[in-house]
Formats: sequence, C-alpha cells, structure tokens
Amino acid sequence: MTAITTATTATTAYATDALPDGTVDAVVIGGGAAGLNGALMLARSRRSVVVIDSGTPRNAPAEGVHGLFALDGTPPAELYGRAREDVRRYGGRVVSGEVSAAEHATPSADGDLRFTVTLADGRALTARRLLVATGLRDVLPELPGLAEHWGHSVVHCPYCHGWEVRDEPIGVLATGPASIHHALLFRQLTDDLVYFAHGTKLDDETRTRFSARGIRVIDTPVAEVVEDRDGGIGGVRLTDGRVVARRVLAVATTLVARTEGLAGLGLPVEDLPGGGRRFVSGAAGATDVPGVWVAGNVTDPIAQVGASAAAGALAGAHINALLAVADTDAAVAALAATA
Ligand SMILES: Cc1cc2nc3c(=O)[nH]c(=O)nc-3n(C[C@H](O)[C@H](O)[C@H](O)COP(=O)(O)OP(=O)(O)OC[C@H]3O[C@@H](n4cnc5c(N)ncnc54)[C@H](O)[C@@H]3O)c2cc1C
Repeated sequence: MTAITTATTATTAYATDALPDGTVDAVVIGGGAAGLNGALMLARSRRSVVVIDSGTPRNAPAEGVHGLFALDGTPPAELYGRAREDVRRYGGRVVSGEVSAAEHATPSADGDLRFTVTLADGRALTARRLLVATGLRDVLPELPGLAEHWGHSVVHCPYCHGWEVRDEPIGVLATGPASIHHALLFRQLTDDLVYFAHGTKLDDETRTRFSARGIRVIDTPVAEVVEDRDGGIGGVRLTDGRVVARRVLAVATTLVARTEGLAGLGLPVEDLPGGGRRFVSGAAGATDVPGVWVAGNVTDPIAQVGASAAAGALAGAHINALLAVADTDAAVAALAATA
C-alpha cells in the first residue's frame, strides 16, 4: 500500500468568518458532518463556538450523499453549505483554515482548562474545550490509473454508491481479508462480479462460497486500470497482458484518521486491522484527555454521514453539559471567595 491521499478534493470555496478575540467555549477542528453538527448543538446552547475547517471532507468527490434520510442524493457541498449556515444562524463561526497545532495551555485562574489552537497561517485562538472532527483519509493500493477514478468508477462503500452501480460489471480489487466480505456485499448489487485476488490469500472454503454465488476469481495480479473512451473505467489489465472488462472497481481502502497537527493533545491512537488508525474514544466521544472530544470518522471509521453527524451532536451536547457543571463550580467558588 502506498499512501495515496484521496481525501483532498476541496468543496466549493466558501465565505469564512473572522476569528474572535478572547477565549471561546469550544473550538471544533474539522467542519464536516461530525464537526458541524457538534458546533450546531453548542451554538444553540449559547456557547461561543468556532469551527476551523480546511474544506476537504472525505466524500467531496461524490455527486450526492446517499443513505441519509430525507436528504438522500444531496450534493456534499450543498449539504455542508446548509450546515454552516445553520451554525452561523445561532452565532457560531465557521472559519476556513487548517489547524497546524493544538496544545494544552495554562488553565484559567479558577482552574478551568485552556487550549491553544494555531492555524497554518499563524493565527491562533484559545478555547475551553475542543471537539476534534477531522475525519479520515482513504488510502488506495498503488495501481496505475486507480486513484484518478476515486469516488466515481472506483468505489468503496456499497451503501454510499452501490445502488448507482447496480447491475454493472463490477470488479473487487482485493486489498486484504476485508475484501472477502466486501465482495459479498457487492454481489448483492450485481450478478456480474469478478474478484481480483491481486496477491491476497483466498482459502478453498472462500473460493467455494464465492463459486456458489457466481463470483469469478482471478488470481493473476492486476497491472493497471484501463480507461474507457468515456473517461470512466473500461477494465483492468492483468500482469499477463489480458484485459478484463469492468465498469466499476470496488476497493476496501485503508482508513487512516487525519491526525496531522494534533499530536500536542496527546490523544490515544489505536491501530486498525488492515493498517489504518483512529483516535480512541469513549461514550459521547469523550477521550482520556480532559477537555477534548472526538467525533465522526476520526474515531469511528465506518460511520457514514448520518452516524458521523449524530456522533458530533452527542459530543457537542456532552461538552455543553460539562461546561454547565464547570460554570456552576466556578460560580460557587467565586461566591465562597467573597463570603
Ligand atoms: C467517495 C466517498 C463517497 C461517500 N459517499 C457517502 C454517501 O453517499 N453517504 C454517506 O453517508 N457517506 C458517504 N461517505 C462517507 C462520508 O464521507 C463520511 O461518513 C463522512 O465524511 C464523515 O464525516 P466527518 O465529519 O467525520 O469527516 P469529514 O466529512 O471528512 O470532515 C472532516 C473535515 O475536517 C477537515 N480537517 C481535517 N484536518 C483538519 C485540520 N487539521 N484543520 C482543519 N480542518 C481539518 C477536513 O477538511 C474536512 O472538512 C463517502 C465517502 C467517500 C470517500
């Protein structure tokens, strides 16, 4: 596997808010589904909240968001645009920028936590609490012609774009054991499925199971993806020179949390089977690092848009709940000091 970065398709450029002066209740790092729903909960709770977002949500290459109730098929840029306006309607700010460092800062005089968040352009702000919602990167196997079709003819998720490729000649390009189940899911969508083992192991029992479902197995490794005249995929060329016609390739990508710039927080990281990684989290996205929550794909790599948004909302509510307790503790301490 080579680290081909696929999650770098930017959404349409959007208006940015100014950074506020002083300390804000919460900074949300990442303005995709998880971050924006977390910010919405905080803004509606009258918390000062700033979302810092570098504008490359994972599903940016997709034409529409599918499997999302009431909003199925909405283009990602439109969905996130609406969500940014929701946050702003309640006084939250959404700032276009990349966080290059996030660190613990000296607590306030009454002991409340503080964090410094620095942007790549040098601007900085101080927050009482952080919600990290930076998503993940899909890492594709290194194969000539593959990355160019990512999110269109090269797909990973049967629930995101499976319906759109139903009945097509689909190839599963195996990347490891996860591809076996992936093949069964795509078999549900087409009768014409070829499994390219591509150097991965396939035991006899699995071959029998595939055969029973009419899934053809090709053991000869794939050398390159062949483009069709329409700009889509026409097939794959094997290392022996044969070309196998396919319109779609399904690939189980390696799921790597986007942790750049966040090392200073000391969040625990866990390796995933298959080589990926995620930030470890507990209930409502709380982490072992006091004052820092995580939500969405950065901690839950299989969460789709709906699940990521729900996780962000839950984390936002939890942050507000703990801030309410901290505010009350501070008020009691201040009262006691004047008695
Ligand atoms: C091709 C494709 C199609 C998909 N289609 C669907 C679909 O149809 N339906 C569905 O439900 N799901 C779909 N998904 C899955 C969906 O993309 C994820 O579930 C969802 O994006 C996760 O939301 P998130 O908020 O955790 O992360 P993201 O949406 O990836 O958002 C993370 C945000 O954080 C920002 N960020 C990262 N690092 C920094 C930093 N250091 N500083 C500032 N900002 C930062 C990024 O720019 C990005 O905007 C698809 C995925 C792919 C790859």
